Amino acid sequence: MNNIAINKARVEIINAAKKMAGQNMLPGSWGNISVRVDEETFAVTPSGHGYDNLMPQDIVIVDAAGNTLDGTLIPSSELPLHLAIYKAQPDAEAVVHTHSIYASACAAARRDIPPLIEDMVQIMGGPVRCAEYALPGTDELAQNVINAMGGKRAALMANHGVACWGTTLDEAMMVAGIVEKAAQLYCITQSIGGAVLLPQSDIDVMHGFYEAHYRKRQLGEE
Ligand code: 13P
Ligand code: ZN
Repeated sequence: MNNIAINKARVEIINAAKKMAGQNMLPGSWGNISVRVDEETFAVTPSGHGYDNLMPQDIVIVDAAGNTLDGTLIPSSELPLHLAIYKAQPDAEAVVHTHSIYASACAAARRDIPPLIEDMVQIMGGPVRCAEYALPGTDELAQNVINAMGGKRAALMANHGVACWGTTLDEAMMVAGIVEKAAQLYCITQSIGGAVLLPQSDIDVMHGFYEAHYRKRQLGEE
């Protein structure tokens, strides 16, 4: 194990968790965050611990099978979800699972968030799909989320919350914020007659530009 990389991942997760808790995305101890340290090693938030006073050593280090390599706390009960996303998406370097309010409202209604606003469709290339229901922490939930993602960066989890990934933790957090904003807009527009949805031809142009250029600018690569 590379201790420098592990310490860096632990601090990164602590900072992200505090920020997202402050945005009401991780209420109480719900929701969780992980980062890929290397091919076989992952850092993940502990189960059942609030985020306000979390310390770097509280972040659990696990292998790809979910065995604890370092740390005294129990890893997140959604570890199967996190590990399934890393397996399905080799580009994923970070996963965030939130219980943010408006996305959870859409998830409770078991509604996809339709393509109604540009930042969301740039990232997603279409709707944010709602995965079929399964109990929290199960392999079935993980598989349902992978199916709903269909290779994209986010999916809603029925009656539960949201799962997002990114090529960096900042990107995964950004996806969670954009999905939450789109869900809020969806709820608001439902009260004023419903949003006019973007056509797939325009979505394809915007998503293509996002993947080829815009996200590279966000990552400082262009
Ligand atoms: P953990 O506290 O085990 O991470 O679980 C919270 C949660 O969101 C379950 O879906
Ligand atoms: Zn959850």
